Amino acid sequence: MWSLNAWRRQRTLAKHPIADDMWQRVRHHLSFLDGISAEQDQWLREASVLFLQDKHLTALPGVELHQEQRLLLAAQAQLPLMNLGDLNWYQGFHEIILYPDDFLSPQRHRDASGVEHEWDGEHSGEAWQQGPIILAWPGVMASGGWEGYNLVIHELAHKLDMLNGDANGLPPLHPDMRVSDWAKVMQEAYDDLDGQLERNPDAETAIDPYAAENPAEFFAVTSEYFFSAPDLLHGAYPRVYDQLKLFYRQDPLARLKQLQAEDPVYQTAD
Ligand SMILES: [Zn+2]
Repeated sequence: MWSLNAWRRQRTLAKHPIADDMWQRVRHHLSFLDGISAEQDQWLREASVLFLQDKHLTALPGVELHQEQRLLLAAQAQLPLMNLGDLNWYQGFHEIILYPDDFLSPQRHRDASGVEHEWDGEHSGEAWQQGPIILAWPGVMASGGWEGYNLVIHELAHKLDMLNGDANGLPPLHPDMRVSDWAKVMQEAYDDLDGQLERNPDAETAIDPYAAENPAEFFAVTSEYFFSAPDLLHGAYPRVYDQLKLFYRQDPLARLKQLQAEDPVYQTAD
């Protein structure tokens, strides 16, 4: 059947080809893509082009944005969607704003006794409900390795979470998943991390303690680890890893283990 979408897609891809050497440089920078198949590489390359046509990147003064930098961002953004089918997972926003550095942003929190607290927090990223994503460029450039840090995936995980309402750590699950399983597994792990920090605020936790901020941050941070330090996440919270594996329909741990078996240089930070 003739499809307008498929035709548009082909036309966009034909109009915006990526030079092979440029894509190789992107792949070289993003070592957390190592080990993906040739088919997946092709998908990622095309999806990156389409993403950049769909979203507007606004660079603030101090951020130099050429095609290679744009692709670096797009390829990281697309990795989580690789096996999720043609649904428009990144709907509801059109703009990504790139700051030259971390930024201050007004925060507000009502505590258990009803007192409203306001302060300026320093952030390297933000995702607004029905609004843009903001990323500090140094954070984007620091992402893409096997280090348990990925600013792009973190903020886009918030967007996935927001697809079914407020960011609350529960993105729209697939029909073969159960909300009750997800909620139980995430809550237990969250409580464990939160408990460790409650007992000792300086505890050396297996994953970034920022995950214990709230359930939305727990999902965003564990998504970062899922793709960029799957061994650490699996070691600390194997059932969280399994739920994320069902959600993203990928197994980065298997990919990392394969890479490590072939080359000891592949280690995640811990
Ligand atoms: Zn966050």
